[in-house]
Parts: sequence; C-alpha cells; structure tokens
Amino acid sequence: MRPKKALGQHFLVDKNIINKIIKNACLKEDDLIIEIGAGHGELTLPLSEHVRHVFAIEKDAGLCYKLKKSIKDKKITNITVIKEDILKLDLKEIGDFSKEKPVVMGNIPYNISSLILKKLVESKELISRAVLMFQWEYAKRLTASPGTKEYGALTLLISYHATVKNLFQISRNVFYPKPSVDSMLVEIRFDRPHPGIEEHLFRYVVNATFSHRRKNILNSLFAYIRGIGISKEQLKKLLSEADITPNLRAEMLEMDDFLRLSAKLKKYLPKNLIHTQQTEQV
Ligand code: SAH
Repeated sequence: MRPKKALGQHFLVDKNIINKIIKNACLKEDDLIIEIGAGHGELTLPLSEHVRHVFAIEKDAGLCYKLKKSIKDKKITNITVIKEDILKLDLKEIGDFSKEKPVVMGNIPYNISSLILKKLVESKELISRAVLMFQWEYAKRLTASPGTKEYGALTLLISYHATVKNLFQISRNVFYPKPSVDSMLVEIRFDRPHPGIEEHLFRYVVNATFSHRRKNILNSLFAYIRGIGISKEQLKKLLSEADITPNLRAEMLEMDDFLRLSAKLKKYLPKNLIHTQQTEQV
C-alpha cells in the first residue's frame, strides 16, 4: 500500500524515537489513550505495553484492517481500533470517560493540525491533556513568547484554554516518506481556569489587534473595528484605561493585556461579533 499524501501519512520508522516519544509523554500504567491516526500501529503497539487501554482512531480502512490483524496475531487485548475520521467523531462515543479522562496522543496529519486542535479544545472537558506531533513551525507558534515573530493570534487562542509545552524536536529523517520539515512533540494541558472573558469576544479582540502586524495596536485595532462607530480618540482613551500603550505593536502584549482590553471593548462591540477579515481558527 502506497502512503497517501492526502491523509498526511508519514510513518515513524525509528524505534528509538518511538521510545523517546512514549517516555516523554510521562504516561501512567492506568492511563487511557485516544490515539489520532494510528497508521500501522507504529505508536499504538508500543503504547499498549505502557498503559491500560489504547483507543486507536484511523480513517484509512486498509490500515485499520492491517492493524487489527497484527493486534490479533500478537494476541494484544488492550487496543480498540476505530475506523473513523477524528474530525467527525464525538469523543463521548468512544467510551465513558466520566471517571477518568484519557490522554490524547498522535503523530497527526499535519494538514489538519488546526482542525484537530479546534476539536480538542471543543472536547477539553473530556480529556486531561494531549501529546501530539506538529510541524516545527506550527509548534513554535503555539508556544511562542511575546516579542517574537512567531507570537500571534494562535499562541493566545490556545493559551486561553491550555498550557502548551514543547517537549523535543523530531528530525524529518525518522519518517517514511520523509516530510519537508522537522516536527516537534508538544504537550497541551487543558488546565486553564476560565479567564472570565467570553471566548468569542477574546478571539475577536486578538484577531483585530493582530490584523495588521506592522501597524501599532491603535491603528491595527481601529482598521479592524472602524465600522462599529467608535472614534480613534475614544479607542486611544480606552487603551490607556486598559493600561496599554497605543503605539506598541501587538506582539508586545501579553495574555492579561488582551483580557483587560477585551473587558474594556465589550460594551462597544455588537453581541454577534462578525469577523471582518481572515481569522485564526482555534
Ligand atoms: N501513527 C502512525 C501513522 C501516522 S501518519 C505513525 O506514527 O507512524 C498519520 C495517520 O493519520 C495516517 O495513518 C492517516 O491515515 C491518519 N489520518 C489522516 N487523517 C485522519 C483523520 N481525519 N482521522 C483519523 N486518522 C487520520
């Protein structure tokens, strides 16, 4: 079977890296795992030796068939193969996780990284954390610090929900077929208490502030929200009330700045916020 590009099939072919991934995931014997994109079981089979149960989700019917066969041949009893598209699957259907939240793991298809992240955010009450491989560039954006060029809407939108940590870099050479970029193993812990600002409002303000990266905060924000009937002077005043210097660039602001700004802007924004430009998804 030829690897399918459309399904992002890049299989792990290096046992040392597979072991390193499992070690760095810090799993417990009692853990339940939901694996996204099981492939031939490159991670699934070794994972099953370390945890209580692995629910292995795979969209490709041919791969599911092969994986089921090797599980049967090896007489492994703690893996369930689920032939499904992770984006269509309701995680509640996999099992009753009310007593114990599973860990999500996977060498995921990179072309749907954002959609998978969105799915996990939407299901965050059901899972404890996720340990996933992302493209190196994307991972850097997820975990960037203020003031860097990678820091942006994606960083803030994921931080609203989770604490994200880069675990280690993975060379492109450990995959077949070899991708054109390196990867990063990333841990996402859904441990953030609700920050008290509604998500849709926060998302709007973050996207607006980053809409023109080269402009300062005042001009970028104003360009995005000018339709709502607020003058530039009013906006400037509002920024200073939120303790934000209007002539800084968006990448200098931290999470707390965006939360304060969202609280200040709330009463000026319409209830059903319409994004006027392209926005970051998560
Ligand atoms: N876990 C294996 C395979 C990783 S490649 C390994 O590490 O080597 C990514 C896998 O995700 C492929 O097997 C691909 O078929 C599967 N996949 C792609 N899109 C998917 C989707 N929407 N839902 C579930 N699995 C998907």
